Amino acid sequence: PRPIVAIVGRPNVGKSTLFNRLAGSRIAIIEDKPGVTRDRLYHTCEWSGKVFTIVDTGGLEPDSKDELFQQMQRQTQVAIDTSDVIVFVVDGREGITPSDWQIADMLRKSNKPVILACNKVDNNKLRENSYEFYELGFEDVYMISAINGLGTGDLLDAIVKYL
Ligand code: GDP
Ligand code: MG
Repeated sequence: PRPIVAIVGRPNVGKSTLFNRLAGSRIAIIEDKPGVTRDRLYHTCEWSGKVFTIVDTGGLEPDSKDELFQQMQRQTQVAIDTSDVIVFVVDGREGITPSDWQIADMLRKSNKPVILACNKVDNNKLRENSYEFYELGFEDVYMISAINGLGTGDLLDAIVKYL
Protein backbone atom coordinates (compact mmCIF):
# COMPACT_ATOMS: atom_id res chain seq x y z
CA PRO A 1 0.00 0.00 0.00
CA ARG A 2 0.94 3.60 -0.59
CA PRO A 3 2.46 5.53 2.31
CA ILE A 4 0.09 8.00 3.95
CA VAL A 5 1.13 11.51 4.89
CA ALA A 6 -1.35 13.21 7.22
CA ILE A 7 -1.65 16.97 7.62
CA VAL A 8 -2.70 17.73 11.19
CA GLY A 9 -3.05 20.83 13.35
CA ARG A 10 -5.62 22.95 15.13
CA PRO A 11 -8.28 24.75 13.10
CA ASN A 12 -7.34 27.73 10.94
CA VAL A 13 -3.58 27.16 10.74
CA GLY A 14 -3.79 26.51 6.98
CA LYS A 15 -3.99 22.69 6.69
CA SER A 16 -6.43 22.74 3.78
CA THR A 17 -4.49 25.49 2.02
CA LEU A 18 -1.35 23.38 2.33
CA PHE A 19 -3.21 20.28 1.15
CA ASN A 20 -4.43 22.12 -1.93
CA ARG A 21 -0.96 23.41 -2.67
CA LEU A 22 0.64 19.98 -2.33
CA ALA A 23 -2.09 18.52 -4.53
CA GLY A 24 -1.53 21.26 -7.10
CA SER A 25 0.44 21.49 -10.28
CA ARG A 26 3.90 21.25 -8.75
CA ILE A 27 3.32 17.59 -7.96
CA ALA A 28 1.71 15.11 -10.26
CA ILE A 29 -1.62 13.70 -9.20
CA ILE A 30 -1.35 10.08 -10.24
CA GLU A 31 -4.87 8.92 -9.52
CA ASP A 32 -7.58 9.21 -6.95
CA LYS A 33 -8.48 6.32 -4.73
CA PRO A 34 -11.17 4.17 -6.34
CA GLY A 35 -14.56 4.93 -4.87
CA VAL A 36 -13.54 8.20 -3.31
CA THR A 37 -12.58 10.02 -6.47
CA ARG A 38 -14.42 13.13 -5.41
CA ASP A 39 -13.19 13.07 -1.85
CA ARG A 40 -10.94 16.07 -1.73
CA LEU A 41 -9.48 15.02 1.62
CA TYR A 42 -7.23 12.47 -0.10
CA HIS A 43 -4.84 12.95 -2.97
CA THR A 44 -2.18 10.74 -4.41
CA CYS A 45 1.00 12.66 -5.15
CA GLU A 46 4.46 12.11 -6.49
CA TRP A 47 7.63 13.94 -5.47
CA SER A 48 11.20 12.94 -6.30
CA GLY A 49 9.93 9.64 -7.68
CA LYS A 50 8.09 8.72 -4.47
CA VAL A 51 4.35 8.13 -4.60
CA PHE A 52 2.27 8.79 -1.50
CA THR A 53 -1.20 9.82 -0.38
CA ILE A 54 -1.73 13.09 1.44
CA VAL A 55 -4.66 13.41 3.82
CA ASP A 56 -6.25 16.63 5.03
CA THR A 57 -7.82 16.50 8.49
CA GLY A 58 -10.33 18.66 10.28
CA GLY A 59 -12.44 19.11 7.21
CA LEU A 60 -15.67 18.40 9.05
CA GLU A 61 -17.46 21.32 10.59
CA PRO A 62 -18.12 20.79 14.30
CA ASP A 63 -21.72 20.81 15.49
CA SER A 64 -20.96 23.35 18.19
CA LYS A 65 -18.08 25.35 19.60
CA ASP A 66 -17.85 23.00 22.59
CA GLU A 67 -17.35 20.10 20.25
CA LEU A 68 -14.52 21.74 18.36
CA PHE A 69 -11.78 20.72 20.75
CA GLN A 70 -12.92 17.11 21.18
CA GLN A 71 -13.39 16.72 17.46
CA MET A 72 -9.93 18.11 16.77
CA GLN A 73 -8.48 15.51 19.16
CA ARG A 74 -10.46 12.66 17.60
CA GLN A 75 -9.52 13.58 14.05
CA THR A 76 -5.90 14.06 15.00
CA GLN A 77 -5.76 10.64 16.68
CA VAL A 78 -7.31 8.93 13.64
CA ALA A 79 -4.81 10.71 11.40
CA ILE A 80 -1.93 9.61 13.62
CA ASP A 81 -3.09 6.00 13.72
CA THR A 82 -3.54 5.71 9.96
CA SER A 83 -0.47 7.58 8.70
CA ASP A 84 3.20 6.86 8.11
CA VAL A 85 4.45 10.45 8.29
CA ILE A 86 2.76 13.44 9.93
CA VAL A 87 2.99 17.08 8.89
CA PHE A 88 2.09 19.12 11.97
CA VAL A 89 0.96 22.59 10.90
CA VAL A 90 1.10 25.58 13.25
CA ASP A 91 0.48 29.27 12.67
CA GLY A 92 3.91 30.88 12.48
CA ARG A 93 2.39 34.29 13.12
CA GLU A 94 0.32 33.50 16.20
CA GLY A 95 2.82 31.62 18.31
CA ILE A 96 2.25 28.40 20.21
CA THR A 97 -1.29 27.93 21.58
CA PRO A 98 -2.59 25.41 24.17
CA SER A 99 -4.11 23.36 21.34
CA ASP A 100 -0.72 23.22 19.62
CA TRP A 101 0.84 21.85 22.81
CA GLN A 102 -1.88 19.23 23.12
CA ILE A 103 -1.49 18.03 19.56
CA ALA A 104 2.29 18.00 20.02
CA ASP A 105 1.87 15.67 23.02
CA MET A 106 -0.33 13.31 21.01
CA LEU A 107 2.20 13.27 18.19
CA ARG A 108 5.15 12.57 20.47
CA LYS A 109 3.35 9.57 21.97
CA SER A 110 2.77 8.13 18.50
CA ASN A 111 6.50 7.62 17.81
CA LYS A 112 5.81 8.37 14.15
CA PRO A 113 7.94 10.76 12.12
CA VAL A 114 6.69 14.32 12.58
CA ILE A 115 7.59 17.29 10.43
CA LEU A 116 6.66 20.65 11.93
CA ALA A 117 5.45 23.17 9.36
CA CYS A 118 5.25 26.76 10.63
CA ASN A 119 2.78 28.18 8.14
CA LYS A 120 1.90 31.75 7.18
CA VAL A 121 5.57 32.69 7.03
CA ASP A 122 4.90 34.52 3.79
CA ASN A 123 8.25 36.30 3.61
CA ASN A 124 11.70 35.97 5.09
CA LYS A 125 11.13 38.87 7.47
CA LEU A 126 8.53 36.77 9.29
CA ARG A 127 10.92 33.88 9.85
CA GLU A 128 12.27 35.21 13.14
CA ASN A 129 8.81 34.97 14.72
CA SER A 130 8.79 31.23 14.29
CA TYR A 131 11.92 30.25 16.22
CA GLU A 132 9.80 29.75 19.36
CA PHE A 133 8.21 26.74 17.68
CA TYR A 134 11.40 24.76 18.29
CA GLU A 135 10.14 24.63 21.90
CA LEU A 136 7.57 22.07 20.77
CA GLY A 137 10.47 19.64 20.60
CA PHE A 138 10.43 18.46 16.99
CA GLU A 139 13.68 18.39 15.07
CA ASP A 140 12.34 18.75 11.55
CA VAL A 141 11.07 22.34 11.40
CA TYR A 142 10.12 24.10 8.18
CA MET A 143 8.86 27.62 7.72
CA ILE A 144 6.41 27.72 4.90
CA SER A 145 3.73 29.74 3.21
CA ALA A 146 0.95 27.52 1.96
CA ILE A 147 -0.53 30.54 0.23
CA ASN A 148 2.48 31.52 -1.88
CA GLY A 149 4.44 28.27 -1.83
CA LEU A 150 7.52 29.55 0.00
CA GLY A 151 9.35 26.59 1.54
CA THR A 152 6.91 23.92 0.36
CA GLY A 153 9.49 22.26 -1.91
CA ASP A 154 11.83 21.82 1.06
CA LEU A 155 8.89 20.44 3.05
CA LEU A 156 8.20 17.86 0.33
CA ASP A 157 11.88 16.90 0.30
CA ALA A 158 11.64 16.30 4.05
CA ILE A 159 8.46 14.23 3.67
CA VAL A 160 9.88 11.87 1.04
CA LYS A 161 13.02 11.28 3.11
CA TYR A 162 10.81 9.28 5.47
CA LEU A 163 9.14 7.22 2.71
P1 GDP B 1 -7.37 24.90 8.26
O1 GDP B 1 -8.53 25.18 9.14
O2 GDP B 1 -6.17 24.50 9.07
O3 GDP B 1 -7.64 23.93 7.16
O4 GDP B 1 -6.95 26.31 7.59
P2 GDP B 1 -7.33 26.88 6.14
O5 GDP B 1 -6.49 26.24 5.08
O6 GDP B 1 -8.80 26.81 5.96
O7 GDP B 1 -6.83 28.38 6.29
C1 GDP B 1 -7.28 29.22 7.33
C2 GDP B 1 -7.00 30.66 6.97
O8 GDP B 1 -5.60 30.89 6.92
C3 GDP B 1 -7.52 31.05 5.59
O9 GDP B 1 -8.01 32.38 5.67
C4 GDP B 1 -6.30 30.97 4.73
O10 GDP B 1 -6.37 31.83 3.60
C5 GDP B 1 -5.22 31.43 5.67
N1 GDP B 1 -3.90 30.90 5.29
C6 GDP B 1 -3.57 29.64 5.00
N2 GDP B 1 -2.28 29.53 4.65
C7 GDP B 1 -1.75 30.76 4.73
C8 GDP B 1 -0.44 31.31 4.47
O11 GDP B 1 0.52 30.64 4.10
N3 GDP B 1 -0.29 32.65 4.68
C9 GDP B 1 -1.31 33.45 5.08
N4 GDP B 1 -1.06 34.74 5.24
N5 GDP B 1 -2.56 32.98 5.32
C10 GDP B 1 -2.78 31.65 5.15
MG1 MG C 1 -9.32 22.74 6.75
